[in-house]
Amino acid sequence: MKAFEATNKFLRGAMRRMDLTDHIQDLLIQPQRCVKVKVVVELDSGDVASYMGFRTQHNNARGPFKGGLRFHPTVDEDHSNSLASLMSWKAAVADIPYGGAKGGINCNPKHLTVGELEKICRKFVEQVHDVIGPTQDIPAPDVNTGAREMAWMMDQYSKLESFSPGVVTGKPLDLFGAEGRSEATGRGVWITATEALKRKGREVDGTTFVIQGFGNVGSYAAKFIQDTGGKVICVSDVNGGIYNPEGLDIDALIAHRKKSGTVVDFPGVDQVSNEDLLLLETDVLIPAALGHVFTAENARDVKASIIVEGANGPTMPDADEIFDEREILVVPDILANAGGVICSYFEWVQNMQYFRWDLEHTRDQLDKRLKKAFDVVYDVAVKKKVSMRSAAFIVAIGRVGKATVLRGV
Ligand code: NAD
Repeated sequence: MKAFEATNKFLRGAMRRMDLTDHIQDLLIQPQRCVKVKVVVELDSGDVASYMGFRTQHNNARGPFKGGLRFHPTVDEDHSNSLASLMSWKAAVADIPYGGAKGGINCNPKHLTVGELEKICRKFVEQVHDVIGPTQDIPAPDVNTGAREMAWMMDQYSKLESFSPGVVTGKPLDLFGAEGRSEATGRGVWITATEALKRKGREVDGTTFVIQGFGNVGSYAAKFIQDTGGKVICVSDVNGGIYNPEGLDIDALIAHRKKSGTVVDFPGVDQVSNEDLLLLETDVLIPAALGHVFTAENARDVKASIIVEGANGPTMPDADEIFDEREILVVPDILANAGGVICSYFEWVQNMQYFRWDLEHTRDQLDKRLKKAFDVVYDVAVKKKVSMRSAAFIVAIGRVGKATVLRGV
């Protein structure tokens, strides 16, 4: 089962709890439209290549469509549609004024030069510029796209329409990007972990953490945890995990990874596999790498009492049921990793106002929004006696539904 299928299963479960009919469920899951375009470019070799580009716009009841654009050979309409739906719910849980979108181009960037990638970005924007825009649909980076691609897209859109820094987010800091964006998802994981601990009468200080994945999300989360007294006893990357029950020195580890490209050869630690890492004795477990890591096979052996989902879709539905039964508090991905999209919203706000916030203001706004989102979801979970995941979907579906009704069907 793919991550988005699993999430749709969770989504349907929440919809059934809300007594929505199958018809309304389908209406909410199906996207409003998917634009499919042919992107034809001349390669450096002189050959002509053509790719398919997709932009799915799922629901804009609460504001302009928002979501990433990925460059990957597996991108297709179905993929794009399913992921766009997730963005609608994530934006609604975070209570930012956006709907959901997703898209991409079915190219393999590993086989393309920088010049060819630039042509693809510009051609794609030429094809979709009438359906995107700062008040219509705001793309962002996703798998294999980043600040560089967003800069080209913003430039091309501005050439075709008018100067529009707010047409995409995730831009370079020197080109209308936002202070604090790179740390935002990891910071959000730390904030939501802190809130979860508070509900158990605990705090980060003196608590043990295990983190799978030491990339953007995992390393920033680890840094904030360490800086507030938490003990990160194990982290990993694609090459494996490292463990020290006394706690790892995260600053030294970040410096080490920068030099050697991996965490596994960090001195003075024990080695642990990515599978065993999930089963270590710890208070909090943070998956921050891949989807599907918790399954019916390992969910009963997880020792942590709190799981904070930094990664998208780390928990399969049958594992989720086991966690629920075992009363493990799971902060779901659509809340725990929403810091990134919230900060993208801040970037857009600054672009629309031609104004720049400093890091302190960004952090303050991010923290407030995430704490509020956590409170709302936790309260629904307690009131309705459901998991935080079900509660998050119930909150999101309720907000999208309300906006739809207020606008008039
Ligand atoms: P990243 O590429 O910066 O880091 C990924 C980390 O996972 C790396 O340490 C990598 O070595 C490790 N990894 C890769 N394959 C692995 C494997 N097979 N086993 C164990 N570890 C493996 O990515 P990221 O931006 O930190 O994203 C991590 C997760 O968080 C993804 O699921 C992503 O979808 C999700 N996410 C990221 C953001 C964001 O703003 N970056 C926002 C929302 C969700």
